[in-house]
Amino acid sequence: MRPRRPTRQVVIGDARTGLVRIGGGLPDRSGNPTTPAPVTVQTMTAGYTHDVESCVTEINRLAAAGADIVRVAVPEKKDTQALREIIPRVRVPIVADVHFHFQRAIEAVEAGAHKIRLNPGNIQDRSQVIDVIQACKARGLPIRVGVNEGSIIERKDKQRRMRELGRVFGDMKHGAMLAIMVAKLEEYLDIFREQDFHDIAISAKSMDASLVIDAYTVIAERFDHPLHLGVTHAGPKETGCVRSVAALGALLAAGIGDTIRISYASDPVYEVQDGLELLWSLGLRDRRGVDLIACPTCGRIQVDLFTLVQDVRRHLAEKITVPMKVAVMGCIVNGPGEAEGADVAVFAGDRRGIIYVQGERVANVTEPEILERLLEECLAFQDRVRRGEARLGEKKVEIIPPDPIGEPGSGIGKIASGAVEKPAALTIGRS
Ligand code: SF4
Repeated sequence: MRPRRPTRQVVIGDARTGLVRIGGGLPDRSGNPTTPAPVTVQTMTAGYTHDVESCVTEINRLAAAGADIVRVAVPEKKDTQALREIIPRVRVPIVADVHFHFQRAIEAVEAGAHKIRLNPGNIQDRSQVIDVIQACKARGLPIRVGVNEGSIIERKDKQRRMRELGRVFGDMKHGAMLAIMVAKLEEYLDIFREQDFHDIAISAKSMDASLVIDAYTVIAERFDHPLHLGVTHAGPKETGCVRSVAALGALLAAGIGDTIRISYASDPVYEVQDGLELLWSLGLRDRRGVDLIACPTCGRIQVDLFTLVQDVRRHLAEKITVPMKVAVMGCIVNGPGEAEGADVAVFAGDRRGIIYVQGERVANVTEPEILERLLEECLAFQDRVRRGEARLGEKKVEIIPPDPIGEPGSGIGKIASGAVEKPAALTIGRS
């Protein structure tokens, strides 16, 4: 993991929603140092903004799932008017997503939106852009300049422009497209600089994960504004997850990216959940709730682990807020190792579950009893952490398992031949 790239910082929100910071590390306009803010997760409502009740419900649902920022589309005046009723009823900063009609941006600012998103591909008139900049400047609101591969201008001349500009990034796979995206950003940001407006976040999305990686890498070298990462039109959750994480994970690991949106053709709650999981997995945000480890199962499995893991996941998501590590392992090959590193762990053997809390064996139960006992132990451990009687990540004992299979070799072959011994009693030595 590379250190986070320092950027200017933008601040979004108000006293009621709380202030959400994006990026940081470079001095602010007064020369005061800023500290890089944790990478934020944002998403976008899927319903109509002018349907006030359902929009408020959706925003609150997304905020409850962990969204730091929620964006809404405002294609019509009735949508910007609805913001006047929506914003006082939600507790998360709201971004108005504006395409084609600069007046929607002005109306959204007047209605109390916390940030405006403009697309250089479809709001190009210089005087209109200046009007939006001035409206935001008067209220201290930031603007995201979001250039998307699919909507950059010169559609009719795109091929010619790409040929002309292609030489700029000729050594990169998407050199021509990159050049046109960067050129469009440069042109657009010139207007903002002329207006002495710097509260800007930048995005440059594509549905092509490799283009997203290249585009943000190039933009990170050229601009010091915070970057909003995303793979646009990534597809349904099932495939869009991999497409998004491939690009965003690579960029975040390289220190690039200050706020992320994963976009699925699915319930946007999944976007929030997967965005948070990505940041937690990379250690870029403090985890909320359980860090669940589970083995993939193999020919050594001795319980119905897939069902058990889903049951554990569902119950713990509802009941545990302490970021404890829980391991659910199918046998004693890797079980003891994971149990040592986990706060609460179970590993299965001979249709039973052996449960550990911070390396200490606390139960040996039959398969039907595993779920309930594991949940009990997790809840009890959470209570002890909250009372200050236990600390996350501590290990009390070293687990020394017997080798159930013998010399390294084909476990499957040994199982097939009946050579695998049933797990023997474990030896636990105090460390
Ligand atoms: S823990 Fe056991 S059952 Fe699970 S994958 Fe590893 S060896 Fe297989």
